[in-house]
Amino acid sequence: MDRNKLAELAIEAKKLSYSPYSNFKVGAALLTKDGKVYKGANIENAAYGSSMCAERTALYSAMVNGDKEFEAIAIAGDAEVYTPPCGSCRQVMLELGGKELEVILVAPTMETKTFKLSELIPFSFDDGYLKK
Ligand code: ZN
Repeated sequence: MDRNKLAELAIEAKKLSYSPYSNFKVGAALLTKDGKVYKGANIENAAYGSSMCAERTALYSAMVNGDKEFEAIAIAGDAEVYTPPCGSCRQVMLELGGKELEVILVAPTMETKTFKLSELIPFSFDDGYLKK
């Protein structure tokens, strides 16, 4: 899928945000290896710790719908330029998407900045460290 289209879907997903506390909307569009797209948005809660980020709502939605192979995720937030994923999302993306996952940050101007996930979470803890 064209990455500009994925970026547009991330911006569109921002509208699904439920963020009455931070007033900071984030949208994500997750592309599976077979071309499906799952949208995600941040969903907040009065008990702040129960809130969830856009990246993880997209990933979890894909997982419970049986999709486990991901190619790219586009992220659009309310920051002036790019909204990078938080540490928890980087860890979850590593677990579910792998080091090669393409992470596309989308600015409000539609400019994009693309990373390999391994660049965003170097020297990471993963299942390789666990005894099996
Ligand atoms: Zn996050």
